[in-house]
Amino acid sequence: MTSPRFDYASRLERARSAMADREVDALLLSVGPDLPYLTGYEAMSLERLTMLVVTAQDAVLVVPELEAPRVEPGPFDTRPWGELEDPIEIVADVVGQPRSVLIGDHTWSTFLLSLQDALPGSRFASAGQLMTSLRIHKDSAEIDLLRRAAHATDRVVARLADLEMSGRTEREIARIVADWTIEEGHDIATFRIVASGPNGASPHHEPTDRVIREGDLVVIDFGGRLGGYCSDTTRTFVVGDPTPEQEEVYDVVQVAQRAAVDAVHPGAIPAEIDAAARRVIEEAGYGDYFIHRTGHGIGLEGHEPPYIIETNEDPVEPGMAFSIEPGIYLPERFGVRIEDIVVVTDDGVEPLNRSDHSLVSVA
Ligand code: ZN
Ligand code: ZN
Ligand code: ZN
Repeated sequence: MTSPRFDYASRLERARSAMADREVDALLLSVGPDLPYLTGYEAMSLERLTMLVVTAQDAVLVVPELEAPRVEPGPFDTRPWGELEDPIEIVADVVGQPRSVLIGDHTWSTFLLSLQDALPGSRFASAGQLMTSLRIHKDSAEIDLLRRAAHATDRVVARLADLEMSGRTEREIARIVADWTIEEGHDIATFRIVASGPNGASPHHEPTDRVIREGDLVVIDFGGRLGGYCSDTTRTFVVGDPTPEQEEVYDVVQVAQRAAVDAVHPGAIPAEIDAAARRVIEEAGYGDYFIHRTGHGIGLEGHEPPYIIETNEDPVEPGMAFSIEPGIYLPERFGVRIEDIVVVTDDGVEPLNRSDHSLVSVA
């Protein structure tokens, strides 16, 4: 998978100025999305340590010698380490004697513990908040990738509308969804939830061998990665004709989803966006059955800040991308969820997903 090249020098500069604001001497990033965000290089999640060391003067990528050929040159030095070297010592050497160190949230604890031993004079804290402050604002190239990924999922949804689901298992549908996710332009398919009938009441259901049949609602939530950026969309289908109750619940979710999207604009408070969806569902009498937040941010990770939840009071700003995905889950009966990714624009909101929101009947 080739990831597009971004302006890593300016990203590193932004990281350094955020470090200076917080009086941080060193930033240490290993596996996870923060490292590719700053360098374009994604570390293998293996027992050999890969670590970017950023200080006011230096940026050094400490990388296993056998993986160094994968590193594309950038505004940092590369320090490959051989099989008989100790990478913790190398990192400690490069970093000097920092008072304050921020370490990436995805770093394996075994490496953190060894680094704490090697740097007894340093205070360690999470790099999460600093990296979020950079990654939460997407530039136009990032939004373009999110949009292309979203449109690829829309094309999968369009094909699903013509798929005969009755008689197939959830697992079979999941395999088809994964194949189509790649056929329509993603580099990889990352997840797929296919939850039919009573399984639809479990928001994060894992596909099973349950055979889908006439009268089922089928919640399909899936996504992939394109150029490193994620997609995530949900549509709920009905096999054959819906009952009046299924139709009613579906309409409530559709109105709630619309209401939350309409509440998005620069300066909107996530708690209020969440409330816009929740109010519709509560007023319809289903408040107890909407058991999760309204949405989550998306970018290099499938779930990242900002979270659209009652407790988040930080206003959203242009360039932030997140899901709007209310649902109603009736235990042992059925579930409905509709999910689109949206981006905050200078004067409002752009839904990246464009596929139809009405209840689509399949065979
Ligand atoms: Zn989810
Ligand atoms: Zn989803
Ligand atoms: Zn989602």
